[in-house]
Amino acid sequence: MDSPAFNRAGDFFLVMIMQRTDEAREWRKLYNTATWQTLRRQALIRDGYQCQRCRVMLTNGRRSPRSAVVHHIEAHKGDRDLFFDLDNLQAVCWQCHSGAIQSGEVLGYDSAIGADGWPVDPKHPGAR
Ligand SMILES: [Zn+2]
Repeated sequence: MDSPAFNRAGDFFLVMIMQRTDEAREWRKLYNTATWQTLRRQALIRDGYQCQRCRVMLTNGRRSPRSAVVHHIEAHKGDRDLFFDLDNLQAVCWQCHSGAIQSGEVLGYDSAIGADGWPVDPKHPGAR
């Protein structure tokens, strides 16, 4: 949790977490299902255990910037159809997920910076 994107988003993020606690408790049940475990594995195999954002090879261990996270492209917000949709899943590394993606969901834009040095999302304040 030490990426610059996270620190910038930190205050917003905390507020969001507090508002989301009850929902999050419900959603966690979805992650404990056998269906999710199967789908998650299918997504990782389909994506070749490679981060679909920065292309690093993913690892199984936790606490590594490269550990595998299966991300819902469209936020499921508890919607089972979105949650259990393989087409809505994307294998990414922990670093991409905790940085660009998560702060994007909080801030409303993707904070990733492209190879050209400019934000990839036109909604990024720096891109205006
Ligand atoms: Zn990545």
